Amino acid sequence: MAAQENDDHKYVYDFSEGNKDLKDLLGGKGANLAEMTNLGLPVPPGFTITTEACQAYLATGREPDGLAEQIEAHLRALESEMGKRLGDPRDPLLVSVRSGAKFSMPGMMETVLNVGLNDQSVVGLAAQAGQNDRFAWDSYRRLIQMFGKTVCEVPGEEFEHALDEVKSAKGTHNDLDLDADDLRGLVDAYKKIFAKHTGREFPQQPREQLDLAIRAVFESWNAERAVLYRRQERIPADLGTAVNVVTMVFGNLGPDSGTGVAFTRDPGSGAQGIYGDYLANAQGEDVVAGIRNTVPLQELERLDKSSYDELLSIMARLEEHYRDLCDIEFTIERGKLWMLQTRVGKRTAAAAFVIAGQLVDEGLIDEDEALHRVNGAQLAQLMFPRFQLDHEFEAVATGIGASPGAASGKVVFTSARAVELAAEGESVILVRRETNPDDLNGMIAAKGILTSRGGKTSHAAVVARGMGKTCVSGADAIDVNVPAKRFTVAGRTVNEGDVVSIDGTTGKVYLGEVPVMPSEVVQYFEGSLDGEHVDNPLVRAVHRVMTHADGKRRLAVRTNADTGADAARARRFGAEGIGLCRTEHMFLGERRELVERLILARAEGERDEALAALLPLQRADFEEIFREMDGLPVTVRLIDPPLHEFLPPLEQLAVNVAVAQERGEDVAKEEALLAAVRRMHEENPMLGLRGVRLGLVIPGLFAMQVRAIAEAAVAVVRGGGKACPEIMVPLVGAVQELETVRAEAEKIITEVVGDSGVEVLIGTMIEVPRAALTAGQIAEAAEFFSFGTNDLTQMGWGFSRDDVEGAFFWRYLELGIFGISPFESIDRDGVGRLVRIAAEEGRAARPGLKLGVCGEHGGDPDSVHFFHSVGLDYVSCSPFRVPVARLEAGRAAVETDGSDSR
Ligand code: PEP
Ligand code: MG
Repeated sequence: MAAQENDDHKYVYDFSEGNKDLKDLLGGKGANLAEMTNLGLPVPPGFTITTEACQAYLATGREPDGLAEQIEAHLRALESEMGKRLGDPRDPLLVSVRSGAKFSMPGMMETVLNVGLNDQSVVGLAAQAGQNDRFAWDSYRRLIQMFGKTVCEVPGEEFEHALDEVKSAKGTHNDLDLDADDLRGLVDAYKKIFAKHTGREFPQQPREQLDLAIRAVFESWNAERAVLYRRQERIPADLGTAVNVVTMVFGNLGPDSGTGVAFTRDPGSGAQGIYGDYLANAQGEDVVAGIRNTVPLQELERLDKSSYDELLSIMARLEEHYRDLCDIEFTIERGKLWMLQTRVGKRTAAAAFVIAGQLVDEGLIDEDEALHRVNGAQLAQLMFPRFQLDHEFEAVATGIGASPGAASGKVVFTSARAVELAAEGESVILVRRETNPDDLNGMIAAKGILTSRGGKTSHAAVVARGMGKTCVSGADAIDVNVPAKRFTVAGRTVNEGDVVSIDGTTGKVYLGEVPVMPSEVVQYFEGSLDGEHVDNPLVRAVHRVMTHADGKRRLAVRTNADTGADAARARRFGAEGIGLCRTEHMFLGERRELVERLILARAEGERDEALAALLPLQRADFEEIFREMDGLPVTVRLIDPPLHEFLPPLEQLAVNVAVAQERGEDVAKEEALLAAVRRMHEENPMLGLRGVRLGLVIPGLFAMQVRAIAEAAVAVVRGGGKACPEIMVPLVGAVQELETVRAEAEKIITEVVGDSGVEVLIGTMIEVPRAALTAGQIAEAAEFFSFGTNDLTQMGWGFSRDDVEGAFFWRYLELGIFGISPFESIDRDGVGRLVRIAAEEGRAARPGLKLGVCGEHGGDPDSVHFFHSVGLDYVSCSPFRVPVARLEAGRAAVETDGSDSR
């Protein structure tokens, strides 16, 4: 169909002019309608008004120059193709006006059907439909209703109410019992409602209806629910929507008509086969509204074999063309099949893996492409335990899956009660309307958090994700009454102490305790399921994708572990070394007292005694880890405790001393301790005496650790094992700090290692901005750098790690100041820039300098891609994140290879 453009800028595309790659311009729906048209599939003819036209309209409040003329030209072309005119009284062309943005925003924007109907053309439509007056008047009343509601903001309930009145006068609940006269009467009633609310008659000019409907779709981009949805899904606010003007086809013309939706594979499990629903004698919105029950798509074979066969062959064709699971919407008008929509369908995490594997088997995609079809976030989801759901359990509410996992526990409504019950060993679920920073203790104590308000960036959601705690937010069916200690949902009352279960992935809330199933994917990583031979399609698919990712990735993946048990688990998960062993974690429990003595010691003798007691303990710690890692590199970080974590709390101590003094007890020792703690007290311990600073202030502390590391390595090697230690100095900001530590360490290492063959590298963390900016100097004294992106983020942004996420990040996220917490995913522009500078300048000063990252970002999918692009050698993350990092490192490698087969 040819259309004359009246303006230089093209705002309107016929379906035959677009294609699936033009989603930015034509929206997802428009681009795919064009693609299907070009494939020769039966798509009702139509055209798409671009997102650019919408952007221009939203920016200026009026249609851009030339748009009206281009619409006119395309409409004329459409009319001549269909041999009908829009709204022709005898034989009208009718169109639907449908929104369609680049990213699917289901139900968020507007659609108007049956545009072109008026008091005259309704008669023509009846004739066209075989003197079917009932159908024509039903279509007309639907137009007034939809148009009134979406274009002119007439309250929808008024139309509903009028419809109910006609039905009750007739003594029925079913729309289908209304005859043509009833519906004609309803049209009159609807027109009156329209006039009452708008102060004008329902527009009879078809072109005016069309223009107003298009404008309403543009405006619906900024409707409140659309804005909220975009914020939730992180869809940019300036994309705008395209508008599709499509020739109407009718599924409600009798028993040989109908409408349905289908998937080319099961989007839940990925299983092959046709999945879908069909509703005879109905229009699309009847399916959505659930007015009548649909039947499984397979029924269509019996009802209309030739349409069914055609549909199946189209679905196979679409899969082959898109090389992916597609979902479709279709209508059958008197035995003629029409395709109304297709797109690459959404699917669960499990289905994503299974389908990627199937498509490789079917030769539709290669293994590199399969890597693109899955991601680390999906893999992480599959590693959480899941609820074992059978029909006994029905969700009573669904909120937003804000932080994944499955948690059951007794309901509590206050933070204090959560802490109390948790201390008694109970599992609790903290239920609030919304949480705030005062709830932090309760959130820590709870197994899970449930709120009735708030989205994915609410306080509850952000903080829970940070803690790795299950959270469902915004379950608005729940009515929380904190003073009465109960909530109501679906007519049930749940009191404090009753058990509920929440699923942080699906957002579902259940009453009672739902049993939890371990993840098969974790069982596979743990080695208890054989990925090649197991009779479980998901595990086989994960195995296959992971094997390919491992073959492709350039980044090594290490783990952060400080015990033999963690090290062993991480190795099973595929870790290729330890990137961070935090030695301060080895000083908790009974050993804490030794460190306290060491820190507070005023006399050399006291200090040496404490160090001598610590040495063998540390040696044993390191031996265990070296043995577990069996020759893989182990980066041991010298102690980096913020002091306040090791000293007794000042206030508590002061109270104890005062009370004891009051009682006349001998408190000389406690007083000395109190004086010492006062002396060492810091306002900002995270910026205080920690890391290398502590090592330089307390003589012998680092030396003891270096000796323990070297002795442990020698012991393992002499015992026939392998050990590959790397000593890492924390919190270095100036090369002189590192040089001082290095000089002492080298002496000890030379003395201990002797001729054992053990080699010990010495390197540093880059976690203070100054270190990043002077990396060229620091590299002179370091054999490796490991980026401590937690502290680098803290000091780069000036955000206290311990406080800000609970204090105000939810607000920053809400305002869009950042899309995700910079502690979760690397801030590429700022902190990432520091990493890049340090990597480049470090390597320039010392070619071959080994580079890694051991902050939390090492296990974050997006950050892994960044570290790959910067050219690091490895990422290091918690054991559970190791598979995620392996997968994402593989995906990053395939992307940069340019071997994307799409
Ligand atoms: C870091 O700062 O990123 C880091 C790994 O060290 P820690 O978290 O122990 O301060
Ligand atoms: Mg740090």
